[in-house]
Amino acid sequence: MARTRLVAGNWKLHGSAEMCREMVGALRMGLKDLEQVDVAIFPPYPYLPLVSNLAAESALGLGAQDISAHASGAYTGEVSGEMLREFRCGYVLCGHSERRSYHGETDQLVAEKAQAALDAGVTPIICVGETLDQREAGDTESVVGSQVDAVIEKLGPNAMDHVIIAYEPVWAIGTGKTATPDQAQAVHRFIRSKIEKLDATIAGRLRILYGGSVKSANAAELFAQPDIDGGLIGGASLKAEEFLGICGA
Ligand code: PEP
Repeated sequence: MARTRLVAGNWKLHGSAEMCREMVGALRMGLKDLEQVDVAIFPPYPYLPLVSNLAAESALGLGAQDISAHASGAYTGEVSGEMLREFRCGYVLCGHSERRSYHGETDQLVAEKAQAALDAGVTPIICVGETLDQREAGDTESVVGSQVDAVIEKLGPNAMDHVIIAYEPVWAIGTGKTATPDQAQAVHRFIRSKIEKLDATIAGRLRILYGGSVKSANAAELFAQPDIDGGLIGGASLKAEEFLGICGA
């Protein structure tokens, strides 16, 4: 089954209004030649309206880095799915490893955030992945499996048709150490086969992104794997040329 690839650029805590203008200008130009791939950038919250305006009527998509599990209420500092949708965010990251480790986000909370995104009509990109200790202990599948199970349990199997999963080994994020194409493919296959057991059609449509030190130099061999449907890119999404090189891969 052909799945449209997605390359998602997570700016994390980087950026400025000037950078938004430069990046969106360069990406709008560069993406004109790329038709086979969906591309979206994920700037910090304050830049969402600006990027939304700058990217209007272009192929460049927009996403947010986090979402509240709540639709509204006394939750100081949080941003709801409806607010994201109002600024034309098509995607939101749920459970990025930095949220899990620095903000104590549990599998349960990540699942609630994914549900909040779906309720607002925003596609959640659910991030899963093991630490180096967990990989070395042979626990990769059990860790990733339970992160995925928590989402299936909360959302139900049919909702997997409306989410994207990003496999991001924690040891590869921002470290310059990329999983080999075989290592990444093995975990992607494991995730897809889990969903296949529930619904083969949905599993065939599910987009599973790889994230962890992807660069233009290593993207092509990762994206050539049969179960890798694009990438979630951190550091390399901050430079237009490098990011476009990944999108072209
Ligand atoms: C990320 O932020 O999700 C990520 C994969 O970062 P990097 O590409 O810098 O490893």
